[in-house]
Amino acid sequence: MAGIAAGPPSAVLVERAEGIFPGGVNSPVRAFRSVSRPPLILARGDGAHVWDADGRRYIDYIGGWGPAILGHAHPAVRLAIAAAVANGLGLGATHPAEIELGEAIRSSMPSIERVRFTSSGTEAVMSALRLARAATGRDLIVKFAGAYHGHADSMLVEAGSGVATQAIAGSAGVPAGIAATTVVVPYNDLAAVTEAFARHAGRIAAVIVEPVAANTGVIAPLPGFLEHLREATREDGALLIFDEVITGFRLGRGGAQERFGVRPDLTTLGKIIGGGMPIGAYGGRADLMGLVAPAGPVYQAGTLSGHPLSMVAGIATLAELTPERYARLEETAAELAGGLAKAASAAGCAVSIPRVGPLLTVFFRGTVPVDATQALGADRDAFVRFFGSMLDHGVLFPPSPFEAWFPSMAHGRTEIQATLDAAASAFREAAA
Ligand code: PMP
Repeated sequence: MAGIAAGPPSAVLVERAEGIFPGGVNSPVRAFRSVSRPPLILARGDGAHVWDADGRRYIDYIGGWGPAILGHAHPAVRLAIAAAVANGLGLGATHPAEIELGEAIRSSMPSIERVRFTSSGTEAVMSALRLARAATGRDLIVKFAGAYHGHADSMLVEAGSGVATQAIAGSAGVPAGIAATTVVVPYNDLAAVTEAFARHAGRIAAVIVEPVAANTGVIAPLPGFLEHLREATREDGALLIFDEVITGFRLGRGGAQERFGVRPDLTTLGKIIGGGMPIGAYGGRADLMGLVAPAGPVYQAGTLSGHPLSMVAGIATLAELTPERYARLEETAAELAGGLAKAASAAGCAVSIPRVGPLLTVFFRGTVPVDATQALGADRDAFVRFFGSMLDHGVLFPPSPFEAWFPSMAHGRTEIQATLDAAASAFREAAA
């Protein structure tokens, strides 16, 4: 804790942030606008906890928005970064650690025969789409309503995450011609997918999907949905892209593709594979990846791609991800989801808490949503009351009803019990 409370208080920092950054932030959901609270200024994290600039401690379920599967400031990751810093920050040529992390990813996800590192998930998705268009000679991309695939122009059409939180249909500044290359269908809707392929036969380059939707809150794929995407794309000659920026190494080492047994042509990754450092990656079939420059004609590059600090942080993180720890994480999440459901029911508060492995969301609606329309229909006011009460009790989760909670491997019985204790009264306030 030393040194944290000694700086300027949060209120002063919030004011200064608002004077320098649009909306006071460098990424929209950090502004806390949908929970009617001043934004937190978080100065420090350790394990399952974060501390704000006033030295107040919270049990944290934001998890850096996904990367912090080991908890914050894990000693192995810190040590790896500290050792790598001494050797320079990006030498402008291939670094041994890039090869090591690339091979570790491939050995966990067999569909990734070749991989390319980028600096963010957004870039990974942009690049995978360009590659899919080049490989097929087609322009259209099918995405699902409420899915968030980063902020590339074509992917902001009916997007989730911060876009859904602001209740806007997309973004200003996206040329109509680019938006027209995106075909949006409801998640989990097999008939809509079939219809899209019938209407645009031979013109769809790829279907991109979050195999577990996690940007309008967590929505599980219905049985057969991912298999249907695999068949429909194969029949039409389109590619299937799994965006596993959230699910990769979160649902297990092999991600959603391992859990559901569906093999995509291309996969995008981010978050966990960088251990908290900036990262993204796209990879897949060797014949497709062979089209990427300089092996092929699809240009894509990055000054900071494969940055040594991201690589060593990723290697150190992946090394900690054992089957036993995944099993325990899943138990932790099950205990959390089960306990929250019990507390809500005792308080007379109608919620549904879908959980896929360690990912979960508390929806203030009585039944589990299967698509974005249902998710977005949840009671926002109840969520705001619940969020505020939990925060006052020292429990922090994403300040939006449309985001996944990220319990980490550092969350133990004590943190879960404290969360459930706080939830008992927070659900009463939400129900009021
Ligand atoms: N795809 C998915 C599924 C995501 O959840 C996100 C970010 N939350 C992205 C892509 C974009 O990643 P980044 O923020 O690193 O650009």
